[in-house]
Order: sequence, then C-alpha cells, then structure tokens
Amino acid sequence: DYGLNEADPEVHAIINKEKSRQCKSLELIASENFTSRAVMEAVGSCLTNKYSEGLPGKRYYGGNEHIDELETLCQQRALAAFHLDGSKWGVNVQPLSGSPANFEVYTALLNPHDRIMGLDLPHGGHLSHGFMTPKRRVSGTSIYFESMPYRLDESTGLIDYDMLEKTATLFRPKLIIAGASAYPRDFDYPRMRKIVNEVGAFLMMDMAHISGLVAASVVANPFDYCDIVTTTTHKSLRGPRGGMIFFKRDSVLGVDLESAINNAVFPGLQGGPHNHTIGGLAVCLKHAQSPAFKSYQKQVISNCKALANRLTELGYKLVSGGSDNHLVLVDLRPLGIDGARVEKILDMASITLNKNSVPGDKSALVPGGIRIGSPAMTTRGFSEKEFVATADFIHDGVQLTLETKKSVSSSKLQDFMKFVMSPGFPLVDEVAN
Ligand code: PLP
Repeated sequence: DYGLNEADPEVHAIINKEKSRQCKSLELIASENFTSRAVMEAVGSCLTNKYSEGLPGKRYYGGNEHIDELETLCQQRALAAFHLDGSKWGVNVQPLSGSPANFEVYTALLNPHDRIMGLDLPHGGHLSHGFMTPKRRVSGTSIYFESMPYRLDESTGLIDYDMLEKTATLFRPKLIIAGASAYPRDFDYPRMRKIVNEVGAFLMMDMAHISGLVAASVVANPFDYCDIVTTTTHKSLRGPRGGMIFFKRDSVLGVDLESAINNAVFPGLQGGPHNHTIGGLAVCLKHAQSPAFKSYQKQVISNCKALANRLTELGYKLVSGGSDNHLVLVDLRPLGIDGARVEKILDMASITLNKNSVPGDKSALVPGGIRIGSPAMTTRGFSEKEFVATADFIHDGVQLTLETKKSVSSSKLQDFMKFVMSPGFPLVDEVAN
C-alpha cells in the first residue's frame, strides 16, 4: 500500500499545485473557506469504505456499530451547535451537498408542479431556489416545480417584502424559501413567517452562506421562525463539503416533517451516506461550539465591515450600501466596467473573487458586479487592517482594468502582481494539507 506520491505522482503533483495556489492567493470567494487539519484527517479516513444505507440503528448493511455511533454523535453535535432542543428539532446529516439537501426538502414537502417562491438568482438567490430564464427552466427545481421568484427593491438593494407578500397572495405557493448566495443583509424572518401564515405555506431557510454566523449567534436566528433549515457545511461553518437538513419534530400543515425528510434523503434521492464527510462534519460541529469559533465569526463580520467601509471611502457603490454579514456586493456599472473583467485581472494577481450580477443587470454572463467575502482570509488570520489593505489591492486592480480595457497584459499588471505576491504579505496561518 503506497502513499499518494508513489502510487500516483500525477495526482499528487496536481494536489500540490492546488495547495500552493491556495497558500499564495487572497481567497475572497464568499462561499469558500479553509477547513482544519482535523476535519481533513476524518475526511481522508477509512470511514469512506463503509456502506450504511438507512439511519442509526436501522441500516440495510451489517457492520455499522461504529458508523451508528458516529452519525448519532454528529446529529447531537449539529443540534447543540445551533442551540436546538432535540425534542423540538431533528436533523439529517446525510445530504451530499447543499443543492441535493434543498431538492430533498422539495421532494419531501411538495408534489411535482407545486408552487414555490425563492429569491431570484440575479438578485442574490441560488440556482436551487427555482431559477429560470424567460427561455429556459435552468435548475431541477424549476423543471419539476413551478417557480415564481421574489426580488430586491432595486432602489435600496433590500428584499422587497411588500412585493413578496402581494405576489405570494396571488401565486399561493406551498413553500417560500429564505436564504441567498449573494445578499449582504440579514433576513426578516418574522415578516416571512407572517406571509407564509397568510398563504398556508411552509417556510424554509437555506442558511448555506451564513450557517457559521448563525451557529455563533452573530446574525438573526432562522430556527425561531422557519419550519425547515438547510445548509451546506463547507462555507462559513468551515467544515467538509456536505449538507444538512434541520426539521421541526411537530407536524406542520399536516406533514410529519421528520419522516418525510428522512425518506426523501434515503431512499428518495440518495443511497449510502458519505461517512467520511459525516466524520469531518462531526469534528467541525464540535469546533463550532467553542469560544474560538464565536470570536472567529465576530471577526468575519468586522472584517467585512472594514472592507465595505474602505471600498465606500474609495468611492465604490455597494449593493444595499454596506454589509451585515460576511460578504459585500460591489456595483461596478457606474465605472463603466463589468465584473468579469475585474475578476480576470485580479485572478492574474492571485486575488480570487467572483463576478456577480447586481440588481438591474441585463446579462448574467457579463455581470456588473463582484462579490467579496471575508470568511476564508479571516481563517488565515486577517484582521480589519489586512482587509483595508485588501480593499486597496482590489481598487488597484479596478484602476488597472479601467486602463487596460482592451488588453490585460501590461507591465503595470506585472508590477501589481509582484506587489501582491511580495514576501511579508500578511498571511498568518498555513493552509492545512
Ligand atoms: N444554497 C446556497 C444559498 C448556496 O449559496 C449554495 C452554493 O453556493 C448552495 C445552496 C449549493 O451548495 P452546493 O454547491 O454544495 O450544492
């Protein structure tokens, strides 16, 4: 049995190149993070070898006594990390990732072609919340269910809850989805609860982006108002790539959520759980209950505010005028450039962020904004000071983009790259294996 470098030097070399890229760049993608060595150890363990279809104590295969212990521990830690009473809430830790978790909820609660409402993708929502274009039903959610998006008020950059209420009253959805991939503000859960009560719908929160912030109680708590809460585990929560579904134990609108959701996960849409991921998740959820995790999440928010304030000082227009969470959305259209070009230039200088549509954009391929997140670099030890410096680097990149509208290769770009990559740039912690 050889180590990877002997068994497969090609894959080993690719992993090393990726590790080096991760170490050297400023990682500002709002949905990414650096997980811990301990999580990676669990994910790379023998847990990957085991089949365990079913739930703890009710498996379709033998030899699952240790897997049962692990999954039960992971469930208990998930409830504890989100401060939930196990007699009121349950959790399924088997979803393979965020999109399958969401589809599992839809399959559990809805019949094909039932109506749903989620935040429109060009306004910050996620594909799996029902995105469709005038020409095409893009995601499985919009193919199998009838989707009517709600949107932002373009003048404020905030969710237009009045319009959501009016549309929901007419459209009568069976499910309303809170949560977003690119929304810099918190959600008004009491208002959304009022709307679902009026129309007789379920309320689900997809807290994928902010689950770490929720666990640390530094943003509003969706569990006080929602029937179901889904999440990915690899974003602000800083775990392995995976998903979870939390459900109320009481029946809601005549549906026993626990059995509906557990059956939708398996055998509805999945087979054997990824036990190595569940192992990594259990480790992450232990850490999520620590004082260090709470301080980290507070720092994620202050770093993001420092970034937002500096960008505002530099004259940038931010969607909604700032941020209450881990991301900012910069509207570049007043400068006459698009997010795609800025993403490319910054990428060449090892600053990794993503182009993003901003409200009112005409094209999703050449969107007018960029999304910048603070979780990953906060994990690597950045404080407000480094995020102010990061805002200045981004500004330099934007200036360069304005100068090199036609061509991105210039000596100025080379200088810029050297500057960002210069030794002494304050990367504090090493990236784990
Ligand atoms: N939900 C939200 C709000 C997301 O932002 C994402 C991914 O970015 C997902 C779900 C999907 O997660 P995954 O990529 O793990 O399927």
